[in-house]
Amino acid sequence: MRQDTQYDVLIIGSGIAGYTAAFEAAQNGLSTAIIEKKLIGGTCLNTGCIPIRFLRNRFHGESTYGVDALRILEEKKSLLREGIQNGFLKSVDIIQGIGSFVENNRVIVEEKEFSAHNILIAVGTAPALPSEMRSIKKAVPITEFLNDFHVADDIVIVGAGIAGVEIASVLHDAGVENIIIIEKDSHINTGLWPETDGLILKELNDMGIDVKLDCVIKHAEEDEQRVYVFLDCKEVLEADFAIVACGGKADVEGVKLEKTGVILKEGFIETNEKHLTSVDGIYAIGDSTGGIRLAHKARIQAINAINDIVGKPAVDENNYPIVVHLHKQIACVGKSFEECKKSGINAAKVVYRTANEGAFISDGEPDGIVKIIYDASSKVVLGAMVYSIEAENLINTICLGISLGMKLEDLKNQIFFHPSCAEALTSAARNALYES
Ligand SMILES: Cc1cc2nc3c(=O)[nH]c(=O)nc-3n(C[C@H](O)[C@H](O)[C@H](O)COP(=O)(O)OP(=O)(O)OC[C@H]3O[C@@H](n4cnc5c(N)ncnc54)[C@H](O)[C@@H]3O)c2cc1C
Repeated sequence: MRQDTQYDVLIIGSGIAGYTAAFEAAQNGLSTAIIEKKLIGGTCLNTGCIPIRFLRNRFHGESTYGVDALRILEEKKSLLREGIQNGFLKSVDIIQGIGSFVENNRVIVEEKEFSAHNILIAVGTAPALPSEMRSIKKAVPITEFLNDFHVADDIVIVGAGIAGVEIASVLHDAGVENIIIIEKDSHINTGLWPETDGLILKELNDMGIDVKLDCVIKHAEEDEQRVYVFLDCKEVLEADFAIVACGGKADVEGVKLEKTGVILKEGFIETNEKHLTSVDGIYAIGDSTGGIRLAHKARIQAINAINDIVGKPAVDENNYPIVVHLHKQIACVGKSFEECKKSGINAAKVVYRTANEGAFISDGEPDGIVKIIYDASSKVVLGAMVYSIEAENLINTICLGISLGMKLEDLKNQIFFHPSCAEALTSAARNALYES
């Protein structure tokens, strides 16, 4: 730790937004410190993406983790935390405690003051229960639940976003018999293209998971054994416990934003396209700024905030994939056909079914869809949706292609390993070129 307490960059929060910003700042030669009140790695590593991925693999298909799964998960999380901390060695100071502003460029942590030319707020969100459930002990935010994963006969999940539908699938695979997801909106809320709602509902229905859309919680009660959720449609759901997988606002309690001119809008920190808040020298990145909550979105915002500080050009933030993992994966990137039409782009599409592909057949999962959207005249790829096993890898490939301005011809001629699922992309591109 440096002796003086003045840094070029001070970051509050060590989730993926915060630690990415710290690495990026240090690599650009800036003196950097990061403040964390709980565990290094934030939500993604400790109570979000990593635990849910681990548990999914634990319960789906052939598990190699055995009965000691939760202990192994803790070991993996601590390995990841060590990895981040080792990466910080010598280049980033870690300050443990709650960071609170004293004024615009000064922050106090347990009575010690730190100042910086630039401060990045990367505090994520604080989980929140719907007001009707706040006094219910058997209703827990999903982040808390993932710290204490357990099963029961009947579970209600509030929210049909990515986390809600994925935890439902994990619980199904873990042997829970009755799972009901309730969602206040009339659609699934994953951020994927709307046309994927039907695929998600089908996957969930195939597992026997009941999804109630357009259902608002009116009231909740509990007794020793059960929780009772009263819906506006007069139905009453009964379960062993409820998992809340929605809501939450910027975790600014303790940050003392009132000591700065930073503005909150509807519970999230307001920023411009450079991730600057209303105060010069104070940036905000990641989940605390609202919008869809994705770790890789938080990561690219961190890179661009540091790019702005060091005067480098911003990288494109809009070309990010979204993936929902159920028994198959549903993934999207770029522009949908409908979006293209709305914005006046002369787009075309190809829909390719994977049923004849060697890798899909030999893996026992022949059914899948690859849909590619491309510019009708230039044939530049604009977007894609994949519903299949390994969709996350296929969509990452398309994502890279879109960044590099890939055309259908490039995709058709790409040499992918055989047999592999990625070959479906070349087949889709070939079909599109023959059809047009
Ligand atoms: C169950 C679940 C599954 C998810 N799965 C995925 C997935 O598969 N893929 C994906 O892309 N996204 C996923 N997400 C979303 C992803 O986890 C978030 O988008 C990401 O973690 C946000 O990172 P962040 O750095 O903005 O905030 P966080 O990771 O929440 O980090 C904020 C950090 O700031 C600290 N902090 C807050 N206030 C202070 C303070 N005053 N002083 C010091 N420290 C403070 C907190 O303790 C925390 O460590 C999932 C989320 C959940 C809940």
